[in-house]
Amino acid sequence: MTAEEKTILAHFLDLADDYVCCGHARRREEYAFEDDEAAEQPALPLAYMIEEPEGSSDSLEAIAGDVSACEACPLYKTRTLPVPGEGSGHPLVLVIGEGPGADEDKAGRPFVGRAGQLLDKMLQSIGLDRNKNCYIANMVKCRPPENRDPEPDEITACSRFLERQITLLKPGIILCAGRVAAQSLLKTARGINALRGEFTEYRPECNSDGAAEPENTEPAIPVLCTFHPSAVLRDENLKRPAWEDLKLLKTRLESLNKE
Ligand code: URA
Repeated sequence: MTAEEKTILAHFLDLADDYVCCGHARRREEYAFEDDEAAEQPALPLAYMIEEPEGSSDSLEAIAGDVSACEACPLYKTRTLPVPGEGSGHPLVLVIGEGPGADEDKAGRPFVGRAGQLLDKMLQSIGLDRNKNCYIANMVKCRPPENRDPEPDEITACSRFLERQITLLKPGIILCAGRVAAQSLLKTARGINALRGEFTEYRPECNSDGAAEPENTEPAIPVLCTFHPSAVLRDENLKRPAWEDLKLLKTRLESLNKE
C-alpha cells in the first residue's frame, strides 16, 4: 500500500469510529505513513471503455426528466427534489443505495449526507472517485418519508429507471450498498450477511428505452453486495467486513483493468 492509500483508509476508519462513538468528526493527529516497498499498483482507469449503444434514443438526461415527471408511486407527493443519480457516464462501478435521505432530498443528489461522506472515503480507499469513475444511484429516486425503507411496490414502480440506467451505463461492476438495494436488484430474500463477501451477477432485463428485451443479449454484470455506509456508521463491528468487501472489489477491478 502507498502512504496515501493508508492515510485515506485510516481517515475512513476514523470517521466511522467518530460517528459511532460521538456522532461527529473529532480532531486527530496527522498520520505519517510510509509507502510499503514495491507498492507500485496499476492505477485504475478513470472510465471503463465501452462501445456506445448503437441507435439508442435513451440518455441519462432523458431518464432524469422522466424521474422528475414520474407519479407512478406516492413518493413524488412528499419528496422535495427527485434524486435520479450522478457520476461518470461510463463508470467502473455503479453504486446502488436504497433511496434518498433528508440531505439528498434537499440537494437532489445521491449520498451527500453522513453516509455519503463515508461512502466517498470507502471508494477513495480503493482508488475510486464518485466524480470520475463511479456512478451513484438508488433503488428509488424519491425520498421515502421519515427515512423508512421503500415499500416493495415503490421499488417495483421505480426499478425501470434503474434498469435504464444500468443498460446505458454498462458499469464494469455493480456495488449494492445495503440489504434493500441487494435484495431488490438480485430479486432475492437472502439477508445482507449471506449476500455480501462474494460476487454474483446481474443481467439487465430491459433495453435502453425501458421495454422488456425478448431475447436478452446483454452480458451479465458482476455484483458485489456490502453493508450500507449508514449501517457501518451505526455498528463498528461492520467496519472490518466492509473493508474486506472493498478489498474484494479492488481485486476484481484490477482484473477488469487487465482484460
Ligand atoms: N442512503 C441511500 O441509500 N442513498 C442515498 O442517496 C443516501 C443515503
